[in-house]
Amino acid sequence: MGRVSVRLEDLPLRDDLRGLTPYGAPQAPLPIALNVNENTHPVPQEVADDIMDSIALALREVNRYPDRDFVALREGFADYLGHGLTAENIWAANGSNEVLQHVLQAFAGPGRKTFGFAPTYSMYPLLSQAVGATWLAGRREVDYSISATDAAVQVREAQPDVVFLCSPNNPTGTPVSLDVIEAVYEASTGIVVVDEAYHEFAPQGERSALTLLPGRERLIVSRTMSKAFAFAGARVGYLAADPAVVDALRLVRLPYHLSALTQAAASAALRHAPTMLQMVDEIVAQRDRISATIEALGYRPYESWSNFVLFGDVADPAALWQSLYDRGVLIRDVGIPHHLRVSAGTEEETTAFLDALASIGSAS
Ligand SMILES: *Cc1c(COP(=O)(O)O)cnc(C)c1O
Repeated sequence: MGRVSVRLEDLPLRDDLRGLTPYGAPQAPLPIALNVNENTHPVPQEVADDIMDSIALALREVNRYPDRDFVALREGFADYLGHGLTAENIWAANGSNEVLQHVLQAFAGPGRKTFGFAPTYSMYPLLSQAVGATWLAGRREVDYSISATDAAVQVREAQPDVVFLCSPNNPTGTPVSLDVIEAVYEASTGIVVVDEAYHEFAPQGERSALTLLPGRERLIVSRTMSKAFAFAGARVGYLAADPAVVDALRLVRLPYHLSALTQAAASAALRHAPTMLQMVDEIVAQRDRISATIEALGYRPYESWSNFVLFGDVADPAALWQSLYDRGVLIRDVGIPHHLRVSAGTEEETTAFLDALASIGSAS
């Protein structure tokens, strides 16, 4: 780090950014990292080889700007998602965080309001603040579920320009039923974003919010390659929506925001979707093993349709987090009193976490 000459407070920073802290999940070099819900299984070698070949080809033309509309990649996502979607329905960016930022730049902004049911994904308020919008936190039941009726009442009262429904919800793992999404859509006049970052980990055959898209031009379903797809480091997220929504996002994106190398890598990975996703069942099995074992240790796991488990009845989360850290295991303190969150890893990583937890002792 270079010499620090002034303090942040001494800079002419935007007033509405003063006092904020950046997103900061710790990145510690511990042997067992189960803190940011990554897929901890490496990309299979044959897929990595094909991705390398595609990147090598793209490199030959890297003197030119990439396809600004990344048509081949959008076709790949449309094929992967199915539901009769075409490239026109798809948008993508460097992680779904950037996709959500585009949505907020187009549909929120200064003087506008965004809304989500707390506790939910910590980036929604941060992204909202960054575009100058006001974040409003709605309420959930004690088990973190939401009913369609209550959701509609809260949204009608808040009148947000953009609603985020995280399905299943991070950091709680809670499923969101389609009737909640329909009720929220009916209750609002703004954009409704269903963030399905963890959809692939839901029970098989569960309907996606993609099935609700026809006839709902204000509905957006966002996905990411960072979780089930084992592609977090490549930074690729995407959404499906009415083509008019995609046109709106073109107004705010930077030209050529998806590099030729990213487009090549993501298109190649999509060609191997079944192989990339083959670890999902194994991860779900480890997730369920975590829930069962920590319950036996006296903690309270919440129902999860994702690749992580939130658990309560933790007497002192900071102390337990540190004890695990000292044993080489990194999990996440999401700031909910008496709770911690852990991602499901490989069988070995999961065993290491559970053994470390058991060695610390049962919940009081
Ligand atoms: C991890 C996560 C994302 C994905 O972020 P990327 O920018 O695609 O890596 C999006 N939404 C939620 C709720 C998440 O937990």
